[in-house]
Amino acid sequence: MKLVLATRNDHKAQEFSALLAPHEVVPLPGAVELPPETGTTFAENALGKARAAAAALGVVTIADDSGIESAALGGRPGVYSARFAGEDASDEENLAKLLRKAPAGSALAYVCVIALVDPIAGTELLFEGRCTGTLAAAPRGDGGFGYDPAFLPDDEIPPPAGRTMAELSPAEKGAISHRGRAAALLAEHLGR
Ligand code: IMP
Repeated sequence: MKLVLATRNDHKAQEFSALLAPHEVVPLPGAVELPPETGTTFAENALGKARAAAAALGVVTIADDSGIESAALGGRPGVYSARFAGEDASDEENLAKLLRKAPAGSALAYVCVIALVDPIAGTELLFEGRCTGTLAAAPRGDGGFGYDPAFLPDDEIPPPAGRTMAELSPAEKGAISHRGRAAALLAEHLGR
């Protein structure tokens, strides 16, 4: 089935297209405005984006909100992950701040909530995926995005072991990531 993805993040769009195949992930038309992420939970932010796009387009829409929780920082940055180092902070600045603030080896969790909004059926559903890991001493790898170079997943990965999320192939990341897990639940709901 066709699903409009309410995001302006190209990395996420690429990941979702691969994770949800054979369903077709349709990019969000440029004219659709997304609301600011003012929620205090991943679910609120994901629903806000999916509702806005579904209302504007009248078609089935998905949106996700995701982030990283650091145990050493009491769960921060969480929903504020994209602006941890400031409102217009780059991925590199956010990552550098996490490495400064939390000790190497401390526990991390990536969280992703996908909202599915069907404006015709009038239904809204949420799917949550988590991926736990620990903070690397220094960033490694240039795959993925965001905090991936410093995220050492707890899940078993194919050899060589001990790679950061940014050193995994897209398929290896998708098999264990928060987004991969949330997308698998969504795909199960949609049926292949
Ligand atoms: P948002 O879901 O667009 O609000 O963005 C969440 C932020 O969390 C991103 O800008 C990244 O900093 C971080 N993040 C979410 N998912 C990932 C991931 O798979 N890898 C690395 N960082 C991520």
